[in-house]
This record gives sequence, structure tokens and C-alpha cells, in this order.
Amino acid sequence: MALHLKIADLSVSPQQLSLHLSMDWCGERAGDLYTAKQDQAPVAITASKVAEVVHVQVIAHGRFGFVCSRCAEPAELDVCAAFDHHFVGPGKLDAGDGDAATRFDADPDVSEHDGLRAELDELVIEYLLLELPSAPLCAEDCKGLCPTCGANRNESTCGCPAQPDTLSPWAQLAQFQVRQAPTARP
Ligand SMILES: [Zn+2]
Ligand SMILES: [Zn+2]
Repeated sequence: MALHLKIADLSVSPQQLSLHLSMDWCGERAGDLYTAKQDQAPVAITASKVAEVVHVQVIAHGRFGFVCSRCAEPAELDVCAAFDHHFVGPGKLDAGDGDAATRFDADPDVSEHDGLRAELDELVIEYLLLELPSAPLCAEDCKGLCPTCGANRNESTCGCPAQPDTLSPWAQLAQFQVRQAPTARP
């Protein structure tokens, strides 16, 4: 079900609308990291129209499943995307011939409607994707997996001795500086 507003239904006085965004885009657009945890995301819209210009205020809620990037356990995340957008009439986006005050095409928060409908699917998807972290965690303080035995350190203490963080480039740099220090002295 496409998420759009019919231009003819809108007027100067703002209308509140409760619509839904189908989440079947998620598998393709959110990469391998996220899956949709609901079929439809609720989208609350306040919409008004002055002349041909449609103004929308949108709040969308999405629920996503992912695998924690530290401990590899499945987890879920609720995100909320809130944004304002203007739709100008057909052909109006590049009107204004270089006059900065009347040009809309440089503004990402302005696009065109086709005179019949203002399409919101793509916008809501883009804003939801922006809310998704690139390395999601099951919890802020997730302890991750033990590098020695692979135990989930959120669930148990395996007893392995603490490992120096040798994989970190900063740790390697620190060792390098310690070895170099004596030759640097006069
Ligand atoms: Zn985790
Ligand atoms: Zn261990």
C-alpha cells in the first residue's frame, strides 16, 4: 500500500492523518543489518495546502530486528523519524531561474507533487534509514563475546584472563612508541 496524500483532499486548515507504511522495502534497503519487525509502520501526518504548496509534518515509527554487532545475539530497535517537508506544484521545483530566494531544487526538504498526489513512501523510508545505526548494539553496555573462548559475557563470566587489546591499532601504536622511546633520547 503506497503512502500518499491526495492533493484535492487538502486545504489551508491542517488535517491530522494516521497512515501506514508497508515495511516490505526493508529487506532490500536496510541491507543485511536490519529486518522489519512489523508489516506496517504507523505514520502520523499533519498536512495542509496553501495554493499549490503542500506542507507535511511527519512522525513515523519503525520496529527493526538486528543482530548485535558485539555479542551476535538477536535484538530489536524502535526508531522514530520526524520531519517537515514541502511539496510544490508540478514543474515548480526548478522555476525561479537562478533567483536563490525562489529556487526550491537545492532544498532536500522540498520536492514536487504531480498535481494529484504527494508521494510519501520514499521520504519516510529515507528518514527511517537515517535513524538506523551502522553498528547496532543490543544494549549500550553490551559486554560482547570473550575473544578467547567465545562466551557471551552478558550471560556468564567465563574466567578467561583479560586480554590486552592487541587488535586495536592504538594498542599497536602504544607498543611502538614504548620501543622507540629509548633511541629518541640524546
Ligand atoms: Zn550485544
Ligand atoms: Zn572466555
